[in-house]
Amino acid sequence: MNDFVIADPGKCIGCRTCEVACVMAHQKEQALEKLTVENFSPRLRVVKTAKVTTPIQCHQCEDAPCAKACAAQAIVQQDQSVQVIQGRCIGCKACLMACPYGAMDLVLTAAPAQGESKVEALKCDLCRKQDGGPSCIKVCPTKALYEVRGSKMVEQMQNRRKRAALGVTSSR
Ligand code: SF4
Ligand code: SF4
Repeated sequence: MNDFVIADPGKCIGCRTCEVACVMAHQKEQALEKLTVENFSPRLRVVKTAKVTTPIQCHQCEDAPCAKACAAQAIVQQDQSVQVIQGRCIGCKACLMACPYGAMDLVLTAAPAQGESKVEALKCDLCRKQDGGPSCIKVCPTKALYEVRGSKMVEQMQNRRKRAALGVTSSR
């Protein structure tokens, strides 16, 4: 089972620190002063409504609709997560349309070597290329975000089933 990051809406205060950390984690220069409105493309988005404030991010779906919709095979299951192979993306937007959570984004990035812009399908990659795990989790001041390990989840489910079975047995 895939790993994924999940948020507790009850703890989120809508400060958007997670969005900034996400952008910085994926920025080559690692320079806050290089952030602009145009290049600010976080892979999770804080949504604020009258009733709830919470980050929305990729669920790392096991049978990922985005991957199934991609004709360029640019979205793959890899390292207990769903990853985009940017070199294959042609910017057709099929993945955006397919994702039920609105977790996929499409951005144009400068590609100076080619003297033109390059399109990228962006979603949470669980910061797999960074040391120490997802950056959003590390910076959240209220600890509203946490990572669920797929393997741990399976173990928890097995334990719950065992407890449920014991409960049934002892009530007899
Ligand atoms: S981008 Fe959407 S469809 Fe694709 S794995 Fe993430 S949540 Fe699932
Ligand atoms: S936008 Fe890119 S990743 Fe998304 S479906 Fe099209 S080719 Fe695949």
